[in-house]
Amino acid sequence: MLNREALLFSPTREGVPSSDDFVADDLIGAQEALEAEAREIMPYKFDACTYDLGYIKQPLFACQTCLNDRAVCAACSIACHGDHSLVELFNRRDFRCDCGTEAMGAGSFCSISHRNDAPANTRNRYDKNFKGVFCFCGRPYDPHTEVEDMLQCLVCEDWLHESCVFGASDSEPPLRQDEFDTMVCQRCVRGNSEVRRILERYAGVEGTGVMLVGSDGTVSGRPASAETGQGEVTPATAVLHGQVNANGEPAAEKRRADAHDDVEARSSKKAKVDSSPQPVSNPTQALSDPTTSAAHDSPVCETNDLPPASALPSECQAPPLVPPGETPLAKFEATGGRSNVFLADNFTSTWCRCRQCLPSFVNFPYLLDEEDVYEPPEDPDAEKSTFELGMDHLLNRMPRGQAIDSIQAFTTFSDRLKDYLRPLATSGTTITKDHIESFFEAERERRQA
Ligand SMILES: [Zn+2]
Ligand SMILES: [Zn+2]
Ligand SMILES: [Zn+2]
Ligand SMILES: [Zn+2]
Ligand SMILES: [Zn+2]
Ligand SMILES: [Zn+2]
Repeated sequence: MLNREALLFSPTREGVPSSDDFVADDLIGAQEALEAEAREIMPYKFDACTYDLGYIKQPLFACQTCLNDRAVCAACSIACHGDHSLVELFNRRDFRCDCGTEAMGAGSFCSISHRNDAPANTRNRYDKNFKGVFCFCGRPYDPHTEVEDMLQCLVCEDWLHESCVFGASDSEPPLRQDEFDTMVCQRCVRGNSEVRRILERYAGVEGTGVMLVGSDGTVSGRPASAETGQGEVTPATAVLHGQVNANGEPAAEKRRADAHDDVEARSSKKAKVDSSPQPVSNPTQALSDPTTSAAHDSPVCETNDLPPASALPSECQAPPLVPPGETPLAKFEATGGRSNVFLADNFTSTWCRCRQCLPSFVNFPYLLDEEDVYEPPEDPDAEKSTFELGMDHLLNRMPRGQAIDSIQAFTTFSDRLKDYLRPLATSGTTITKDHIESFFEAERERRQA
C-alpha cells in the first residue's frame, strides 16, 4: 500500500537516526530532511477539489478508510482524507473525484467543496487497483519492499511488474525504458477486440515502432529511425520505479519526478502532432460504424470527435492487410510469445488516419493524441514550514488523542519535538531515551487536556 505516513516513517529512510542515543542536532537535521521530503511529495495546493472539472485524467488516491475504497483527487487526499489509509494510483483517465459523493457511503462530506452525499459518479471505473492490488499477478504494491520497476498499460492503466511483462526477473529487460514511450498489456491485446484490431495491423511490423518482445529478448517492430546507441534518455515512459532501482529514493517521489517530465515531454510532442495537417472534428460517420459501436470494455471519451469521411484521405498507409493468423502478432502468440505491445516515442503519429482506419480509433483518442493530465496547482506556500501549513489548514481537524498518522499531524508534532530539543542541541547535550519519553509524556498530557 502506498501510504504516505509509511513513507515518512520508514525505518529505512536515510537520515533517520537509528541508535537510542543521539545528539539533538541529528534529530533536528533528520526532521528537516523529512519535512523537505514531505513538501517534495506533496508540493501542491490542497484547497481546490477537481470535482467541478468533471471526468479528467488526474492523480488519484483510493481511500481504504472510507467506505468502498473509492478514489479522491490529490487535494482531497490531503485535506479530507489526510489521516486515512490511502493507495496512490498515479494518473488515471476519465475520473471524477468521489469525495463527498454517495459512492463513499451516507454522510460522506468533502471539506474543501462542502459537498455531501452528491450522486455517485457513475462513469468512474473501479478495478482492483483501488483495493491496492496490481498487475497480472495481483500483488499489493508497497513502495518500501518493491524492488522492481513497474509499467503502466496505456489502455487499462494497471501497473505491471517488469518481470511479469517480460518474463525474466533477474536480467536487464530486453527493451530499455528510453526505447519505448508506453505499452499496452497482453491482457488488453488479447481481451479487448477493438484494441487488438488496431494493434494487430502494426505490431511486430518492422519500422512501425509497434514492438513485440520475445521471451529470448528479440524485439520486432522497431521504429524506422530507432537509435541503437545510448541516446538521450527520454523519461516519457510511464514507469514506477521500485525502491532499489531508484537508488533508495521513495518510489512515489521518483514517479512524481517522472510525471512532471512526462507532462513536458508530452506537451512538446502534442504541439508537433497538432501542427500536422490531420483534421479532427466530427464523429457522426465513425460513431455509426458498426465495428466501433460495441465499446463494452473501453470508456468512451466525450471529446473523441472524428472528421467526416469525405475530409479524410482515401489512400491507406497502414501496413498491408494479411489473413488472420498470419500477422506477426498471431504468429508471435502461436509460438508462446507474450503479446504485450510496446509503443515507441511519437506513437500517435504511427497510425494511418485514412477513412477506413480512423473510425476504429473512436474509443481510443489517447492513441491518436497525447492526453492532457491534470496537475494539481503547485503550492505557493511550499517554502513555508509544514508546521505553519498545519497551523493554517489542519490543526482544527486533527484527531485528538489518536495515533498521529498524517503528514500534517506528523510535521506539527515533530516541530514541537524540534522546539523541545533545540535548547538541548544548543548546549550539545546528548539526547537519551529519557528525554524522548518525557517529551511523549508531555504530548500525551497536552492531547488529553
Ligand atoms: Zn476532490
Ligand atoms: Zn477517507
Ligand atoms: Zn474532499
Ligand atoms: Zn506482477
Ligand atoms: Zn492493459
Ligand atoms: Zn488506413
